[in-house]
Amino acid sequence: MNKKKEKMKSNTVKIKSIELINYNVLRIVTEKPNEYSFEPGQATEVSINQANWKDEKRPFTFTNLPTEDVLEFTIKVYPEHDGVTEKLTELGVGDELIVGDVFGAIKFKGKGVFLAGGSGVTPFIAIFKSLEEQNRIRNNTLIFANRTAKDIFLEDSFKNMLGGSFINILSEEDTEKYPHGHIDTNFLKSTVSDYSQYFYVCGPPKMIESVVEDLKKLGAKDDKIVTEES
Ligand SMILES: Cc1cc2nc3c(=O)[nH]c(=O)nc-3n(C[C@H](O)[C@H](O)[C@H](O)COP(=O)(O)OP(=O)(O)OC[C@H]3O[C@@H](n4cnc5c(N)ncnc54)[C@H](O)[C@@H]3O)c2cc1C
Repeated sequence: MNKKKEKMKSNTVKIKSIELINYNVLRIVTEKPNEYSFEPGQATEVSINQANWKDEKRPFTFTNLPTEDVLEFTIKVYPEHDGVTEKLTELGVGDELIVGDVFGAIKFKGKGVFLAGGSGVTPFIAIFKSLEEQNRIRNNTLIFANRTAKDIFLEDSFKNMLGGSFINILSEEDTEKYPHGHIDTNFLKSTVSDYSQYFYVCGPPKMIESVVEDLKKLGAKDDKIVTEES
């Protein structure tokens, strides 16, 4: 066990509500431990407080405001992994999770374009809620990449918060309603004109790599590109 792990604090919290908000996305609200705080965009390691599951820790992002007296997680379920996210679907109110220390490098630095792949949108949920609360959400854009239309979750919330600055793109479904393909240089050119603003990128590692490369080609500067590694 490394030093970082030894120092990890763990807190047991009871589930207050658990519901599906899309066919494969759970919203879980839990108690908040005493003296526990996080910044919008940050995450923690979560495990299920049951025999055989306690040590199966997975990272999940807080998706509510830090000022609230609960924790909220928005979790995409992968039944085919037969892992923690699948097991979470069996839990109910009163069951317990274990949450660890808070970590994460994605935080709001200034107006910009947020590019998310699938569940990579979760750090942006808390950031947008916080910007909306401070009346600073205008002029920020979300580009949300998913496989198919049914994978787009929280569509109405993003529309309400961002209006026309909420843009979807689908890689595996060609419909009239949404652009089709991956976020690439052509798509970026057609949707973004200012490359001096901040770019926040979160999603599968391959998506992050190719989007960051394309952003740089189009003129974005390293210090204006925010990812989990930055
Ligand atoms: C900092 C950070 C924050 C995150 N925040 C969120 C969040 O807020 N919401 C969210 O939904 N996700 C988030 N994620 C992603 C999330 O952590 C993973 O989706 C989650 O760990 C998956 O857990 P799992 O146990 O279901 O599956 P895994 O741990 O991915 O897999 C369990 C087992 O399934 C097998 N497996 C893996 N992939 C496949 C496959 N494709 N097909 C079949 N078997 C497979 C492997 O043997 C693996 O051991 C975050 C990730 C990071 C790094």
